[in-house]
Amino acid sequence: MCDVRIGFGEDAHGLVTGHPLVLGGFEIPESPVGASAHSDGDVLLHALCDALLSAFGLGDIGQYFPPSNPNYAGLDSQVILQTVQDHIRDAVGEVQIVNVAGVVTLDRPKLGPHRVQIQRTLAEVLSLEPGHVGVTFKTSEGLAPRHVQARVTVLLRVEASRGSAG
Ligand SMILES: [Zn+2]
Repeated sequence: MCDVRIGFGEDAHGLVTGHPLVLGGFEIPESPVGASAHSDGDVLLHALCDALLSAFGLGDIGQYFPPSNPNYAGLDSQVILQTVQDHIRDAVGEVQIVNVAGVVTLDRPKLGPHRVQIQRTLAEVLSLEPGHVGVTFKTSEGLAPRHVQARVTVLLRVEASRGSAG
């Protein structure tokens, strides 16, 4: 029987000067602001990680990477993603990502010119075809000018279930 799952995740960070702005593994060039975060503050990857975990009821990345742990300072979010994928494989079995859809809310800088690069980088990180990753952009209309936020849905197919539980 085909086991298909949907995951949904959300993440937000404050914006500060002097930090890189990384989205989906792609660093926005010459951004005047970046995410204030313990790790590299990649809201797209963090929301994706929570989406992956949520599809299987496995909690969220705060449990696995508590911000209070100094070992995670400056951590590359692709390491977080890899850890999450390993954890899911251990808990569930082989899982194939079918497609990813994300929304980033940010007032400035404008992200439209970087859409192709963000989608392409995220697809590469996930070993997906570029057409299976979509990222759209919204502004907060000035309501949250000092925040960057992402929401991500992911469709998953469980290839080889671990055990017969289900
Ligand atoms: Zn985050």
